[in-house]
Amino acid sequence: MRVITTISELKEAIQAEKSQQNTIGFVPTMGYLHEGHRALLKKARQENQIVVLSIFVNPLQFGPNEDLETYPRDFEQDQKVAGEEGVDIIFYPSVTEMYPNELSVTMTVNKRTDVLCGESRPGHFDGVVAVVTKLFHLVQPDKAYFGKKDAQQLAIIDGLVNDYNFPLQIVPVDTVREHDGLAKSSRNVYLTEKERAEAPALYSSLLMAVDLIKAGEDNPESIVNAITDRIKTETSGEIDYISILTYPGLENMEIIKGRYIIALAVKFTKARLIDNVILVEE
Ligand code: AMP
Repeated sequence: MRVITTISELKEAIQAEKSQQNTIGFVPTMGYLHEGHRALLKKARQENQIVVLSIFVNPLQFGPNEDLETYPRDFEQDQKVAGEEGVDIIFYPSVTEMYPNELSVTMTVNKRTDVLCGESRPGHFDGVVAVVTKLFHLVQPDKAYFGKKDAQQLAIIDGLVNDYNFPLQIVPVDTVREHDGLAKSSRNVYLTEKERAEAPALYSSLLMAVDLIKAGEDNPESIVNAITDRIKTETSGEIDYISILTYPGLENMEIIKGRYIIALAVKFTKARLIDNVILVEE
């Protein structure tokens, strides 16, 4: 496993793999790797000759009052995880390596940003598509792996790849959870003990919603109200959003039908958690 910190060295390494016709699987992350990241890496390992992992906490996707400075980091541990998962190259650039100058051209996501995390984190997805574009150009993967936990990100990146004809395939990976249902997240370490005990209510309220829908409820508002009640009763968190939208279009729906997502974000003292389920209703 090679750790590469410069763009020039990465270009050389990728060129060498390409000249041998090796297929490249790419897993972009912000590090502090957990089982969710491992699932992406495992899938990449199965499906490609070379696996490239990037670890970069991208300042462009953090708002002014967000947790850029305090985002958890542990590169030594990440290297260990990467080694265990058979990663060939870790790309671990500094901020100045990625952005030596202020960008002269920026990107704006037009669709799917006025809802969910896009609504509460203005500019977040513009920062995501900027870094992903840069990384795709550098790594030139055949396949890139993204978690369904960040379902809005996945839909937006799919849009990016289709709109601009990136020559690669986006592979979605199911959300990996703790035993009690809490979606694995680097930010879970910032939950207090009490909040950690409450946090499984996020997923259990989503499962309750699925049960209600299966039992015949098709009004999104009623479902959202039921989830809201449950989260308010079972957690001390502040609800950021609870929404039911079409997926991957992320449009409002009058009645629950077709492919849809139930997504939520809840703010705890030091961690904002997101979760979702994506389903099809005939
Ligand atoms: P992050 O390091 O949080 O930016 O995440 C990097 C990638 O890992 C993204 O594609 C995420 O969607 C994915 N990911 C994060 N948490 C999970 C999880 N619990 N299950 C599956 N994928 C995840």
